[in-house]
Amino acid sequence: MAKIGLMRCEKNEVRCPLTGCLNSLKNVEQGFDRYEDAELVGVFTCRCPGEDAVDLAKILKSKGAEVIHWCTCAFARREDGKWVLGGGFCDHLDAILERVSREVQIPCVKGTAHLPQGYRPEVFE
Ligand code: SF4
Repeated sequence: MAKIGLMRCEKNEVRCPLTGCLNSLKNVEQGFDRYEDAELVGVFTCRCPGEDAVDLAKILKSKGAEVIHWCTCAFARREDGKWVLGGGFCDHLDAILERVSREVQIPCVKGTAHLPQGYRPEVFE
């Protein structure tokens, strides 16, 4: 059973209740299809410019998270009804994931639900 922490972007927090992310996690599909089973440990909201992400990730890890997934909307956008890479809410997400994975010693994955076609979730570890 993979123990998952979720990190969302504040730019979407009042529009999206994470329904797709939570369903994908429960069904171990989309960004979670590498796991046989997955359990949600907790959810935090990243706030610009992302300085707190390390501290939030440390808390998720202390609560049992073995890996942290960042929501797809942070690095992809919806266009003509489809999700495509680029143009997401965050213009420096890779730097945040690289720093969190290094400083917290926890794998960080780019992707949750509705992955762009052909995209395989990038893992920072
Ligand atoms: S730093 Fe990036 S992921 Fe974090 S709240 Fe800002 S735009 Fe969203």
